[in-house]
Amino acid sequence: MTDFDPDRAAAELLHHADHDLAAGRPLSSPIVPASLYVLPGDPAGPYQYGRWTNPTWDATEHALATLEEAPVVSFPSGMAAIASVLCSLVRSGQRLLLPSDGYYTTRLLADQYLRPNGVVVEECPTSSMAEADLVDVDLVFVETPSNPTLQICDLTALAERATAAGAVTVADNTTMTPLGQRPLDHGIDVVVSSDTKAVNGHSDVLFGHVASRNPALLEPVREWRKVTGAVPGHFESWLVHRGLETLELRFNRMCDSADIIASRLVGHRGVCSVNHPGLDSHPQRDLAARQMFRHGLLVGIEFADAATANSFADKARFVTPATSFGGTHTIADRRARWGDEVPGGYIRLSVGCEPTEPLWAAIEETLNTL
Ligand SMILES: *Cc1c(COP(=O)(O)O)cnc(C)c1O
Repeated sequence: MTDFDPDRAAAELLHHADHDLAAGRPLSSPIVPASLYVLPGDPAGPYQYGRWTNPTWDATEHALATLEEAPVVSFPSGMAAIASVLCSLVRSGQRLLLPSDGYYTTRLLADQYLRPNGVVVEECPTSSMAEADLVDVDLVFVETPSNPTLQICDLTALAERATAAGAVTVADNTTMTPLGQRPLDHGIDVVVSSDTKAVNGHSDVLFGHVASRNPALLEPVREWRKVTGAVPGHFESWLVHRGLETLELRFNRMCDSADIIASRLVGHRGVCSVNHPGLDSHPQRDLAARQMFRHGLLVGIEFADAATANSFADKARFVTPATSFGGTHTIADRRARWGDEVPGGYIRLSVGCEPTEPLWAAIEETLNTL
């Protein structure tokens, strides 16, 4: 575990712009919808053309960099961030190791665009990634806890073995946010995040970012954005900046509630099994306690079958049937409907910001009717 203090980081985040205390500066970050900037003479200065830089992106990246304790490049979605890393850091003939049980679109990206262009793509379950054979592997991509089955990879062990083998390590930290888990502090080279989830947290924006303390790895990512034009919108960037201000409050509420709800679900006759990194029954509970500050806001619930799971998602007051996670509303998503390799009755519950007791009461009331 690192000596990072999430509370201190949240305070730093709120005051990240205090280096500029000029009289009259707006306390909120302005939206600058510029595609071009006044540019006399030879090109010089930080702002020249809108595909390269923008003051609103800079403010959001600075806020994210305060949390990551690393420089950040922002993207219009989590997948745009992941694509920037995999496309700019892996070349034809190189070997890429992906989790077999992580977010499925990352595997689609590899299948549809990397394999056909000559990248050798291999897969490994998240829970055995830290012991995987890394001979001749150029880049290892890990997601922990993995979405949707919440398997965990030992980041320190993976980073040590990959570094010794000469492989670059990338961690998708979407399920935990920088307040819940610190892959870079465990020796991982690059972090990617879908800020569409808890980081923005209000289910109104797609966004993503890449963070790394190694300029040789972050520069190709920045160049990828500039050349391919995968640029975030000004307004979306501003919304993420605004959402970030309450990340610590939201994340702690969601994780507190998820711990309580997961433990109360255990043994309830309406459910077959419960999956959450904070439960004694989680196979990697000790690793979770060592490497994560919180257990996260996701709870896997297995119901008897798809119909029972659907009935729970449709009926429970304060639970909305939808996909995605990390927003203020509690969301239930039956993952088999998307083709994930989970039982038909497996629901990924994203615990929201509703006060815990009314939320639990609504869940329990519905469970009792199933
Ligand atoms: C949602 C998600 C993504 C993709 O993010 P988008 O913002 O939807 O492009 C990537 N990784 C994980 C773990 C996710 O949950």
